[in-house]
Amino acid sequence: MVPGARLVILGRQGAGKGTQCMRLARHYVVPHISTGDIFRASVKAGSEFGLKADEFMRAGKLVPDEIVVGVVRERLCQRDARLRGFILDGFPRTAAQAEALDKMLDEEDMPLDLTIDLEIDEEAALRRLAARRVCSTCASIYSTSRPPSIDWTCDNCGGEVVQRQDDTEDAIRKRLADYNDLTKPLIAWYEERGALATIDALGTPDEILDRLVAVIDARKRP
Ligand code: ADP
Ligand code: ZN
Repeated sequence: MVPGARLVILGRQGAGKGTQCMRLARHYVVPHISTGDIFRASVKAGSEFGLKADEFMRAGKLVPDEIVVGVVRERLCQRDARLRGFILDGFPRTAAQAEALDKMLDEEDMPLDLTIDLEIDEEAALRRLAARRVCSTCASIYSTSRPPSIDWTCDNCGGEVVQRQDDTEDAIRKRLADYNDLTKPLIAWYEERGALATIDALGTPDEILDRLVAVIDARKRP
């Protein structure tokens, strides 16, 4: 049986968290929990909750901590996450979220194996974000330089591949600024606890997956 894993993936927008987390989720057979994907799905479903999240997202603003923490708590308590673990993508993003997560995992006796910072500089991130395209059904990620094989329909599910509504210049700038102010300090916070690995995010998706699996496996089998 493939052993599970409990991971947090940090990194600037455009680092490739979504792409790699999907691959890691298949590799370790654990759920990929992306708060951005959860919010986008609720926007698509048109729920009241989605309408609220949509306002923040379009403006490139963070959804308030209490809301995000509640969503993650609910998801982490489901059976698959309890039994096999999880890959958290896009959470935590603020100190309050990191503290809430710490407390939650402590209470549920689900310690993290590792936190990974996928490292990319701001210039490369901007270039990637401008080229990013996503499947509006399953959230698979493409780019203008790596499009799906047939006419912007998703290779994975046949859904329509589009540019995200918050991948506009203004919203991208706001999100990158928030990353520097609020999320980047978490890297030092996890590092102090001796639970951080840094991985270079430049390279092909296969190369980066190999780097990730190597540090995760080394951590799980010291
Ligand atoms: P990106 O990393 O490119 O900003 P995501 O898909 O991770 O994209 O998130 C999209 C949007 O969802 C964010 O701009 C924010 O509005 C909201 N969001 C996602 N995760 C969080 C979080 N942990 N805290 C607050 N807001 C979040
Ligand atoms: Zn798809």
